[in-house]
Amino acid sequence: MPFTFPLFCVRLARCLQRSLCGFRVVVAAGVCCLVPIGCSPRPSEPAAAPQTTEQPAPLSVSESSDAVTLPVLCYHVIEDEPKSVWSLSTEHFKAHIGYLAENGYRTVSLEDVTLWLDGDGRLPQKSVLITFDDWDKSHYEIAFPILKRAGFTGTFNIISSRAADARSIARLKEMIDHGCSIASHSISHKSLIGMKPSLLQNELQQSKADLESRLAVEISYFCYPYGFYDKAVIGAIEDAGYRGAFITVPGVNSRNTEHCELRRLLIQKDWDVGYLDHLLARDPVLFRAFYNHQAQQFLNSRMYHIVEVIIGELEALEPDAAAASKWRDRLDKARNKSGG
Ligand SMILES: [Zn+2]
Repeated sequence: MPFTFPLFCVRLARCLQRSLCGFRVVVAAGVCCLVPIGCSPRPSEPAAAPQTTEQPAPLSVSESSDAVTLPVLCYHVIEDEPKSVWSLSTEHFKAHIGYLAENGYRTVSLEDVTLWLDGDGRLPQKSVLITFDDWDKSHYEIAFPILKRAGFTGTFNIISSRAADARSIARLKEMIDHGCSIASHSISHKSLIGMKPSLLQNELQQSKADLESRLAVEISYFCYPYGFYDKAVIGAIEDAGYRGAFITVPGVNSRNTEHCELRRLLIQKDWDVGYLDHLLARDPVLFRAFYNHQAQQFLNSRMYHIVEVIIGELEALEPDAAAASKWRDRLDKARNKSGG
């Protein structure tokens, strides 16, 4: 699981859902919220997941795949009554999948993503990769049937030590047979930053080898535990033979995105279908709040490379705004202070 987003992000969601056309930011008593201004209400009735095929339909590809961007959603636990910030209700999850299906989104596999990133394949115009982290029983028992009913597939980022039992292996194989993809999320789920090289190598290579031998599929993607990584970890990922890796900085991916820094949209408790709509539309108010929050967290943790990535996203989001240069100054000061 990654860094926790603050409660204000949930409040942002609720406020965003109420408005279609504009917001102003209000900061009071240390709590940031968005107030809709002069707008008609956004319809927020969750869409029901359509009943469609049991198998994902073949992809119909875009004519201009260079222009396609790929949002990657990230879920953790799906349950009727969410118990943690990383848990989403079954009702909200069904609504998310219904929204994606009704709005013409098509799920893609990691194999499709590799071909697209390498320039050898195309993706549908409205593609989405739906990822699930850690390996929880709800992935198979709740999420998978909902995905199947919509004709969708998922990508499961597996902590290999949690999926060594016969039942997990059988469930993962069934999901693979349906078209789902599997990636490694390490053996132990420890932070990889500063890890002794032999241990780091083991986390990356052994989890890959274990999943490949258990599931008889190639494991080509990695998901950084907690979203923590640096340049040394990226180097180790490449040395271990991975084609790409997922981070927790929000954004959408293009063919130009670094393969070992694929952005994702993390879903949290109470984030309903209205919130999903704003995430996929890359609402600048919402994303600015994400980036400012994450930049502070990663700066505090001295994960300067990730702060650089966030600054790049801020610059792309709002080229003329001062936020990126503010964080650039803070990053330079922090680096000078720490000697690196
Ligand atoms: Zn995790």
